Amino acid sequence: MTVHSSSSHTPKLGMRTTKQRTAVVEVMQEIDRFQSAKEIHTALQDRNAKVGLTTVYRTLQSLVDIGAVDALHSPTGEVLYRHCESEAHHHHLVCTKCGRTEEIDGGPIEKWARQVADTYGFQLTGHDAEVFGICSKCRENSQ
Ligand SMILES: [Zn+2]
Ligand SMILES: [Zn+2]
Ligand SMILES: [Zn+2]
Repeated sequence: MTVHSSSSHTPKLGMRTTKQRTAVVEVMQEIDRFQSAKEIHTALQDRNAKVGLTTVYRTLQSLVDIGAVDALHSPTGEVLYRHCESEAHHHHLVCTKCGRTEEIDGGPIEKWARQVADTYGFQLTGHDAEVFGICSKCRENSQ
């Protein structure tokens, strides 16, 4: 892992940006759930922000690259994006119906990943684990 040192603590999303990039960032900060690039694009259109879908994809990828936005693959294979509160390492519990997301601790997964890498002589560079379910609100609504 590369560690960038920064003396002053500025929010990662507040860095120098273009107008379009800023629009994407603002929408990401407003919406609390994981959503696809297409949904983000629609949300931008609702706000009369003129950002093309290609730019939305590119911007999201660059935000993921700097760690400002988290991305995950939904069970249906879609890539979903979210701006999370926590800047520390975390995992996600995601409602597959409404996209509601809880930022969760990896718990035993953290240790397990290190052990598995050790066992096979790998240097650990990362791991991935997300939990999907249906939240209580969505369960109530479907009853
Ligand atoms: Zn996250
Ligand atoms: Zn839900
Ligand atoms: Zn973890």
